[in-house]
Amino acid sequence: MNYIGTRGFREPRTFAGALLDGLAPDGGLYVPETYPTPSFDLTAASAGDYGLLTEKLLTLFGVDVLGAEAVQKAAARTKAAFLNDAGKTPLVQVEDNLWILELWHGPTLAFKDMAMQMIAPLTDAALAQTGEKLTLVTATSGDTGAAAVRAFAGSEHVKLVVFHPLGRVSPVQRLQMTTVEADNVLNIGVEGDFDDCQRMVKRLLGEEELKQNGLISSVNSINWGRLLGQVPYYLAAAAASGAEKPEFVVPTGNFGDAFAGWVGRKIGGNVGHIHAAVNRNDALAQAINTGHYVRHQAVETASVSMDVQAPSNFERLVFEASNRSAEGTKGVFDNFNATGNVHLSGDLQDALRAQVTASTISEEETAQTIKYAHDKWGKVICPHTAVAIAAALKRNDGQPIIALSTAHAAKFPDFVTKALGFAPEVPEAIQKLHGHKETIHSIRNDEFAALEAVKAFAHG
Ligand SMILES: *Cc1c(COP(=O)(O)O)cnc(C)c1O
Repeated sequence: MNYIGTRGFREPRTFAGALLDGLAPDGGLYVPETYPTPSFDLTAASAGDYGLLTEKLLTLFGVDVLGAEAVQKAAARTKAAFLNDAGKTPLVQVEDNLWILELWHGPTLAFKDMAMQMIAPLTDAALAQTGEKLTLVTATSGDTGAAAVRAFAGSEHVKLVVFHPLGRVSPVQRLQMTTVEADNVLNIGVEGDFDDCQRMVKRLLGEEELKQNGLISSVNSINWGRLLGQVPYYLAAAAASGAEKPEFVVPTGNFGDAFAGWVGRKIGGNVGHIHAAVNRNDALAQAINTGHYVRHQAVETASVSMDVQAPSNFERLVFEASNRSAEGTKGVFDNFNATGNVHLSGDLQDALRAQVTASTISEEETAQTIKYAHDKWGKVICPHTAVAIAAALKRNDGQPIIALSTAHAAKFPDFVTKALGFAPEVPEAIQKLHGHKETIHSIRNDEFAALEAVKAFAHG
């Protein structure tokens, strides 16, 4: 089981290589050389223990190059982040044909835990094999950084540097990053905004001085390893619902989560249609619905983790929808990068829509849906979840639908309180964060200051 790139890179990479590379050398994204066919009973495995299901899927996708122990450890950690407090699949039925899959029972109360908890031990195992050290640098507007800090704290071969915009992440998100005491984690607060952080990270990833010191990479959602951590829950949820080929409605930003559902279907899982629900930042929905893929400046919405205007995993879908044409895929994304405005061919549009549909949900609909979910079902949901449920309610034709719930409402108290008229209950995991020592290394908005800080940490 090897991996190839979406833009023509064909030197086969094992899973370990794809994991440590992140992006293929020509800028493409890694995908399996061919999608594997399970030799085990996928239906039975989906209904069984979540850890065993995850182990089987990881092995199917070649993760066993890292050894059985690494596979078991990764599966055990992702299982612990997935199951609810009662140790059950967190699927809640709210209507005859509508379920909510709560993916926020992990350490930072957001679904990014599912993938991060899994790739941290796998990355450690891959580095143990090569004897290399890795510095991970990442920029965050909140959720990704928190999940990465929790997952990589204490890792043996990885040092993690997270850049966040000072004063511009929510207090809960900040505390989740800065109260973790681990020698291998550095939290840098930048006197700037998220885009400044992202620019710094891009610069650092190309910095020769840092490369001499070992590998340097990022934990962004283009990594195939992260995507793989999200496939098992589609299968487990479908099995737990008892429905035949349920449709999944996925609150979407970078399109990693929705594409993981596509993978679950591709390997023969009991997964029906995939629908991506986006907020006002709807370049993806416009591309699928009108054929025009246009770059706009992202605007801030209540579902802030979905404020993405160039969803990186869209490239994987274009690759598959164009019958795996590397030339066609490269053409679309080179053109998009150069001009920010691409018209997709009619054939490609039809092929895309046959795989995934998409819709846009406004801020007003998001607020109304938070209120509706509470009034009708007694559920307090976060803005990201509300985007998915709003789209699911519009699509409901009596077919079974599972909507993904990606964060706990208490992570986004302001918008939820405004929509409901009262504040969401604060879970113990958040209460516990207060009163701990916070460690933040603040720097001015300056790339040189960023380089100095990372150099000192990486050498230390
Ligand atoms: C990241 C995130 C999403 C979007 O997931 P993608 O894989 O980027 O599409 C949705 N909800 C929450 C809470 C997130 O943190």
